[in-house]
Amino acid sequence: MRKLEGKVAVVTGAARGIGKAIALHLAELGCHVVVSDVLLEEAQSTAEEVQAKGVRGVAIRADVSNPQEADNLVEQTVAQFGRIDILVNNAGITRDGLLVRMKDEDWQKVIDVNLRGTFNCLRAAARPMMRQRFGRIVNISSVVGLMGNAGQANYAASKAGVIGLTKSAAKELASRGITVNAVAPGFIETEMTRSLPEEVKKSYLQAIPLGRPGLPEDVARVVAFLVSDDASYITGQVIQVDGGMLM
Ligand code: NAP
Repeated sequence: MRKLEGKVAVVTGAARGIGKAIALHLAELGCHVVVSDVLLEEAQSTAEEVQAKGVRGVAIRADVSNPQEADNLVEQTVAQFGRIDILVNNAGITRDGLLVRMKDEDWQKVIDVNLRGTFNCLRAAARPMMRQRFGRIVNISSVVGLMGNAGQANYAASKAGVIGLTKSAAKELASRGITVNAVAPGFIETEMTRSLPEEVKKSYLQAIPLGRPGLPEDVARVVAFLVSDDASYITGQVIQVDGGMLM
């Protein structure tokens, strides 16, 4: 029997990048996966890859920054699968810029997707999970939320907020059998980091003791551990997946 056989997971921002790797890895472990994203076509193609692993995979379009869409995502999941065991809040964006020049809309958009979106989905999923008296929630933060980063005041604030939200939710939901943890990736090769200037990429690489950028699969394996029974006594934690970048 596979490690997550028969469990039902929702992964947000799962059309590509880290979210896609998480969706596919959970599927490999026997989990049925709802692949959610604002990009429906790409989400559908990830859902087909999920199905190829011998589990159910469906794509649901949801903009996590919209509370009604987050509620609808969870409602549709419960309607189709009868339950929701795992929520991975992965959807996230950047709108980088020095803070003295940062536009109000760039501040707000990043907070709305990364922090409010995590809250919206967490609140929606907590209700059925509390009734089930079981749930595993993993929020994708960032090392930037722990250490700050010039040019990313909005992003760092949103990801630090995700950590406070994670710990508060962990305390509130523990008595109902729900664990809530955060994963803080470092520099991972995805669309999000591909467009960074070469000199910035070089400086990140120099700061990584393990000497290589992370892969989406490096993050996916840690998420899979946190949602498995092996991690049933772990809650309210922030696990860095950063090659030693911040220690
Ligand atoms: P990515 O390749 O840009 O993928 C993110 C996915 O989320 C995209 O498909 C994106 O769609 C989707 N998305 C954006 N806004 C959304 C919304 N409002 N509702 C639902 N989905 C939305 O990024 P990634 O690198 O895989 O990052 C995944 C997560 O890891 C993010 O939370 C990010 O902050 C975090 N992280 C990444 C790194 C890294 O080095 N890559 C490091 C630390 C943390 P669009 O293309 O339409 O925006």
